[in-house]
Amino acid sequence: RAIGDFDRKRAPGAKQFMTGILMDVTEQKNDEFRKNDFIAMVSHELKTPLTSMKAFVQLAQSRLTGGRDVTAALAIEKAVHQVVKMSNMINGFLNLSRLESGKIQLNIEPFNLAKLIENVEKDTRATIVSHTLLFAPVEQAVIHADEDKINHVIHNLISNAVKYSPQGSSIMVACSKDETEVCISVSDSGIGIDQHELLKVFERYYRVEGSKLATVSGFGIGLYICKEIISRHGGRIWAESEPGKGSKFSFAIPMSST
Ligand code: ADP
Repeated sequence: RAIGDFDRKRAPGAKQFMTGILMDVTEQKNDEFRKNDFIAMVSHELKTPLTSMKAFVQLAQSRLTGGRDVTAALAIEKAVHQVVKMSNMINGFLNLSRLESGKIQLNIEPFNLAKLIENVEKDTRATIVSHTLLFAPVEQAVIHADEDKINHVIHNLISNAVKYSPQGSSIMVACSKDETEVCISVSDSGIGIDQHELLKVFERYYRVEGSKLATVSGFGIGLYICKEIISRHGGRIWAESEPGKGSKFSFAIPMSST
């Protein structure tokens, strides 16, 4: 009988027994620490060569773009794209290990939310050409939070919306606020997520399985990092979705995080 499975129909005064399984999780925890340490070490080692590789391919790109060798220009453009993708993955692992070792501190300062969204709009319009980005008007508001980290969360949600929705579809970024908190949401019309996985996607290393997802690269750490950042601000993050129709990821943080 499983723990917690009580027999409510037992006769009054009868003895009750409860059984359960005790499991030593020390080894499991050690394995996890070793795995995380290993990932952190590998990511750290890969970062340096990757950073110089990125600089070299970008230099080559600046020389080849607009030149006569169209094939070489195209090849180098693809190389830059892949190197940037790889460094984003490595940065994800480094952020994860910094976060878990308590090395990431929030830097809370007042900033203008409308200005932040304006910058996100500028950045994403310059880099995302595969989708139509729509930004709802944002009210002026000064909030007290870690601007860089909130910026990271919004970029992550937008980048997921791009990854998990068809080319050419629209992605909508919207903000709302009341006296106590601001809420930011990113909606897409992509593959969506089943109801029973809406909470799991915020777990570390969790990825939804499925044939449509097999070709999309990732390690399932982006949303976990977003959740950690938002909860450290005293906020909350959640997802709503209809499979096949799209998803909406939202987070709310207090106007003034401490
Ligand atoms: P990654 O995208 O690198 O796998 P994330 O932590 O960002 O890691 O996301 C975890 C999982 O949640 C993804 O693998 C995917 O299955 C699902 N997911 C995240 N964002 C979306 C989205 N906008 N639409 C559909 N599924 C999503």
